[in-house]
Amino acid sequence: MATKLRYQRVLLKVSGEALMGGRDYGLDTATCRAIAEDVRGVVGLGVQVCLVIGGGNIFRGIAGAAAGMDRAQADYMGMLATVMNALAMQSALEKAGVPTRVQSAIAMAQVSEPYIRRRAIRHMEKGRVVIFGAGTGNPFFTTDTAAALRAAEMGCDALLKGTQVDGVYSADPRKNPAAERYTTLTYLDMLSRDLAVMDAAAISLARENHLPIIVFNIHEPGAFTAVMKGEGRFTTVL
Ligand code: UDP
Repeated sequence: MATKLRYQRVLLKVSGEALMGGRDYGLDTATCRAIAEDVRGVVGLGVQVCLVIGGGNIFRGIAGAAAGMDRAQADYMGMLATVMNALAMQSALEKAGVPTRVQSAIAMAQVSEPYIRRRAIRHMEKGRVVIFGAGTGNPFFTTDTAAALRAAEMGCDALLKGTQVDGVYSADPRKNPAAERYTTLTYLDMLSRDLAVMDAAAISLARENHLPIIVFNIHEPGAFTAVMKGEGRFTTVL
């Protein structure tokens, strides 16, 4: 008899910065390949997977606004950046042999499907990884919020946040060696201690929908697969 999976369906949020590898800007294809390999491992376990990719490696609306642009216009540019990253991850996943679909919240018929909730669910049921591009489709939001929104819409069992460190710490572990890693936290801990892992809108949405957030290191090979098996190092927020 097959063992029951801990998670049937999950959403993985990868920030744009995570795709830069060692670069200062843009995409590192080796890093995309490494993340794709890990996603392949999770799909191989029989878990249904969808992805939300950020755009901070290319353009952030807030930076455009700080440079004098209209904020909403700059945010649309940021959303377009996330579509570029979604296409890059699609390419890496398909090279790894994982069937995918990109669905964009901003219509872009030549390169992606439009976001259609029920169709996205059907893709996952057929074993395809769905990559959601263009965030929520609305300015003044972030891709963290898009991740919580899509995870709730897709009925995911967990929202995985792949970061540069292996969980949530009491301080930045790269600056403070005494920083402690939390094994579990509540949503309210995250909000009240202002732990800079996800924005408040994303955490509130996850809380309202009883969606656990799991924070882990996306750069550790096989970490996503390990977390799905309940192994390795991570922080669970619930
Ligand atoms: N963005 C937006 N609405 C959304 C998601 C993203 O306007 O629903 C824009 C916003 O300008 C943001 C940029 O897209 O700065 C890139 O997304 P984000 O900063 O969340 O990317 P990450 O930090 O995860 O790389």
